[in-house]
Amino acid sequence: MRASQFHLFTLKEAPSDAEVVSQKLMLRAGMIRKVAAGIYNYMPMGLRSIRKVEAIIRDELDRAGAMELTMPLVQPAELWQETGRWDKMGPEMLRIKDRHDRDFALQPTSEEVVTDIARQELKSYRQLPKNFYQIQTKFRDERRPRFGVMRGREFLMKDGYSFDRDVDAAGRSYDAMYAAYGRIFDRIGLEYRAVAADTGAIGGDRSHEFQVIAETGEDAIVYCPDSDYAANIELAEALALLPGRSAATTALVKTPTPGKSTCGEVAELLSVPLQTTVKSLVLASDETDEDGKIIKSTVWLLLVRGDHELNEVKTGKIDGLKAGFRFATEAEIIEHFGCKPGYLGPIGLKKPVRIIADRTVANMADFICGANDEGFHYTGANWGRDLPEPDVVADIRNVVEGDPSPDGRGVLAIQRGIEVGHVFYLGTKYSQAMNATFLDVDGKPKHFEMGCYGIGVTRILGAAIEQNHDERGIIWPAAIAPFEVVICGVGWGKSEAVRDEANRLYDTLVKAGIDVILDDRDERPGVMFADWELIGVPHRITIGDRGLKEGIIEYQARRDGEQIKLSTVDAASFVA
Ligand code: ATP
Ligand code: MG
Ligand code: MG
Ligand code: MG
Repeated sequence: MRASQFHLFTLKEAPSDAEVVSQKLMLRAGMIRKVAAGIYNYMPMGLRSIRKVEAIIRDELDRAGAMELTMPLVQPAELWQETGRWDKMGPEMLRIKDRHDRDFALQPTSEEVVTDIARQELKSYRQLPKNFYQIQTKFRDERRPRFGVMRGREFLMKDGYSFDRDVDAAGRSYDAMYAAYGRIFDRIGLEYRAVAADTGAIGGDRSHEFQVIAETGEDAIVYCPDSDYAANIELAEALALLPGRSAATTALVKTPTPGKSTCGEVAELLSVPLQTTVKSLVLASDETDEDGKIIKSTVWLLLVRGDHELNEVKTGKIDGLKAGFRFATEAEIIEHFGCKPGYLGPIGLKKPVRIIADRTVANMADFICGANDEGFHYTGANWGRDLPEPDVVADIRNVVEGDPSPDGRGVLAIQRGIEVGHVFYLGTKYSQAMNATFLDVDGKPKHFEMGCYGIGVTRILGAAIEQNHDERGIIWPAAIAPFEVVICGVGWGKSEAVRDEANRLYDTLVKAGIDVILDDRDERPGVMFADWELIGVPHRITIGDRGLKEGIIEYQARRDGEQIKLSTVDAASFVA
């Protein structure tokens, strides 16, 4: 590729709404352009990296025996109604109607469609196991799209689904995918941790997230440096809340953030899409003075009795909660917080928290919106509507650093992570709901044992940059850099010697199969260097008249800035 033909368009400054470094750098490097909130153009520079991520994924999945197909972006409501998820998915699923007034959804994931394929095409145990995957556009109408490609609304996901005869075979499929994921993220060159995640109603221990370690990560993970224990914090918290594991020490709600609504923060918390059963819920209210300044915040702890999915809370399907929520009893509060109901502070709280014990809430909606009951100073009438965007996500912690590791081999540490992959054993949840069966060896119909496996293809780019950048720009892991090598011709327009040497080296590298771009734009060296350092190409070769006179060209590595002078004779073999 020659830079004069390629679309190169870099920015000195990132747009002011860009929040995190990866988003800023991808915009500045011309990899993405925003079209609407959470919706981006992947520009030629960005698409090159995306394609490289895809190629690694395809290579490893095909090697692990999975098969690629694609399923439609636009999916009929009927399939989603079969599993009940048409109602359950809530506003995150974008719904559309066709000209005949029929309902469709833009796929946020594809369990329904792939299970439909299986029930039509996989008739016999002899056809099993099967593992299908697609690398396809997903749409999730995220409540708060942000951080560029990391939490988009339209984004690219690899989603795969396995079909097996029985639990043991499904376990082998899961293990094969888990191993393939490790190879994929190793090859991409990311520092990551595979952590146990909650399996919700499915149960068992087969759900793992692949978390890229980064300060800006939206997830928290706990791990034990002295053993291989690692879990996402929701799982660790859920376990800590189980009876008999009451090491729980803290409920931290960062409240109030000056000038921000606690209700907003808690609503934000509720919108965090944990694919998990809610074990506890904190409800908060603010009292404000005439100027809207928060003068008092009250936080109640509620425990959930049943297995309610957080989505039900998010979608406002409050009926489902009628019987589910109640206030913690005094005994539970003492057990979980080590103190009596009443003031619970100052455990990491800027203001004391009041917990009211032993009130049964008959109807959450009345309680939230209408309560004028003594004791309930609820002022958050904006509940469920669009709330002001809070800066701080409420942070509830029942597990803190230094708690004993569940495996008893040390203490827990906490890190932040970016979820780039998720493997999940589904059991027969979908095959039962959709009556998807095959004939087993005994001639009887059996439900497929399923697993699902996702990778955030576009999110990986953001995660890689969060981990690999400096003040000058991106430092791509070589495997997913848009170009591996750039040749900068200094004085291009003036010097035939430079053009000859650069073209010669370029041809040699292309022949050797190296992904090289030749900067023939006739720009000043400073401009060229700044561009390529921003874009983050791992290897740069500079060819100028001065060096050529001595038979020398210059090599520089992006990551450590190491410079090496090479003879023109050696240059090709050095880079190759
Ligand atoms: P998150 O917890 O970040 O919302 P998720 O658990 O909802 O993600 P999954 O349903 O497990 O996501 O989807 C598989 C993968 O798709 C995730 O591991 C993540 O890498 C990616 N992904 C999910 N949501 C988004 C998004 N809004 N933008 C970009 N990638 C996403
Ligand atoms: Mg999500
Ligand atoms: Mg998640
Ligand atoms: Mg997930």
